[in-house]
Amino acid sequence: MFSHTTRTSLIHKLQSEQFDLLVIGGGITGAGIALDAASRGLKTALVEKHDFAFGTSSRSTKLIHGGLRYLKQLEFGLVREVGSERAVVHQLAPHLVLPEKMLLPLYEKRGFGSILTSFGLKLYDWLAGVKPEDQRKMLTKNQTLKNEPLLQPSDIKGGAIYAEYRTDDARLTIEIMKTAFRNGAAPVNYCTVTDFIYENQKIIGASIRDETTATVFAIKAKAIVNAAGPWVDELREADHSKKGKRLHLTKGVHIVVPREKLPVKQAIYFDVGDGRMIFAIPRDRTTYVGTTDTTYDGSKEEVYASKTDVDYLVDAVNKTFQGPGLSPGDIESSWAGLRPLIHEEGKSASELSRKDEIFESASGLISIAGGKLTGYRKMAERVVDLVIEKYFEDVKLKRCYTASIPLTVPGFSSSEEVELYKRKFPQAGSAINYLVHTYGRGAGQIIANSSDKELILAELDYCLENEMVLSASDFFIRRTGSLFFNIGRMKNALEPVLAALKNHLNWTEDKVQAERQRLKDSIKLSGEFR
Ligand SMILES: Cc1cc2nc3c(=O)[nH]c(=O)nc-3n(C[C@H](O)[C@H](O)[C@H](O)COP(=O)(O)OP(=O)(O)OC[C@H]3O[C@@H](n4cnc5c(N)ncnc54)[C@H](O)[C@@H]3O)c2cc1C
Repeated sequence: MFSHTTRTSLIHKLQSEQFDLLVIGGGITGAGIALDAASRGLKTALVEKHDFAFGTSSRSTKLIHGGLRYLKQLEFGLVREVGSERAVVHQLAPHLVLPEKMLLPLYEKRGFGSILTSFGLKLYDWLAGVKPEDQRKMLTKNQTLKNEPLLQPSDIKGGAIYAEYRTDDARLTIEIMKTAFRNGAAPVNYCTVTDFIYENQKIIGASIRDETTATVFAIKAKAIVNAAGPWVDELREADHSKKGKRLHLTKGVHIVVPREKLPVKQAIYFDVGDGRMIFAIPRDRTTYVGTTDTTYDGSKEEVYASKTDVDYLVDAVNKTFQGPGLSPGDIESSWAGLRPLIHEEGKSASELSRKDEIFESASGLISIAGGKLTGYRKMAERVVDLVIEKYFEDVKLKRCYTASIPLTVPGFSSSEEVELYKRKFPQAGSAINYLVHTYGRGAGQIIANSSDKELILAELDYCLENEMVLSASDFFIRRTGSLFFNIGRMKNALEPVLAALKNHLNWTEDKVQAERQRLKDSIKLSGEFR
């Protein structure tokens, strides 16, 4: 079980044993590397200074996508890799990575023409190896407006439909982390790398602070990978190796409104007229809209939407869709994330490449930055190949086979099997979609346990036992997404969840009060813009 009790024994193991590989950072990049390495036979540890997926990996657009706009930047290699990975990631977790048709409206006075779009999407499908039945379809003006009657008809000249997938980024990260654990890795949250340990100028370990107890310990490992996302350069600095290329952080904001305020029928990717493209994506009872892309140099721990970000997105929606119009007061929630991109002289935020890059320092620290959620598996494969080449060439290890390690146990073979599984639980009523798309086969356990308690408390029990939840924010933000997509449910369940956590984790009244305040601050900051 991947619980807080297991965490205590994992920390004991981290201090007392020698590891082959230490991964720093529990976002999707680190999780992917830990799974790849452990499944090939490397003894792997992973430390995350906050909760798993605290950083960018819970703040993306939540699409498993090929990145259509990277075609414009002629990044064919990137589009081919992430485009073809979509189907692989869907296959690994069909309950969590769901096919989603995307509507691309075409405008008279802005954006690309129909011929160029038709060719671009054809190329996109071809690079990604999309099945014939899912390939792009060009639409007339009438067909486009029929697909989405909310679009302002005046300047629409046509449109296109093409295939993407949507997911929940934090859930995908936690499922990969759990799978890494099942394959022998030792991942722990709330443990910060504060410094490195060297021998003959080579890195041989790291000093760790356990944030839950403020105790300090050391982890010894032959290889160390820095997968700290926006924090990658801080660790390169600690290693005195921040030379040459450096990170360029850009902030991306999403806003969430109740579905009735923007009742789009399907996901849409629309041109705003200033060179940027924005997504509007329906999810359960909400629609979310994003993203912005602006250079960022503020605090990496506290990243929020500003009034300027929100006004930009509200304005984009009001220019694109008919109806009474959105106002900032309609926004229920929001999130902001940082893209850890590689700086390129003279390029603006949105022109920077999304490609990943690996840096090796003289001390042996391997850092990885850039990339996409979608390409996590391939990034992991490249990093682990390098680790093996440098440190374990003489050891007999398996080749990468993460494309065939499902992210649930037992795996779902297809979307059809997910639908059949849902039918086993008629007693769950309309909650079944949410439960299965969130917890996969864990839904069965939650439903059984909910016969004598509120559903949300059964979910909490599951997350405490199987997903290393240590705080109320872990549960409400990253395990259930309630802060973003069901804020009313979160507000109603706040006190019962705090009481259950107090009981389960032996919290003092002061700790409960601190957690309550943190949640209230999160609610305020996700809905108030300055
Ligand atoms: C607005 C936005 C939208 C996006 N949309 C998409 C999308 O739709 N699809 C897609 O494929 N990609 C998307 N991306 C890109 C994708 O989200 C990122 O590439 C990916 O999440 C980066 O993951 P990561 O693990 O490298 O970084 P992170 O998720 O930030 O993980 C790094 C972790 O390292 C931890 N850490 C830092 N320092 C230390 C330390 N000293 N000790 C221990 N731990 C440490 C941090 O707490 C953090 O959790 C988007 C990005 C943004 C910003």
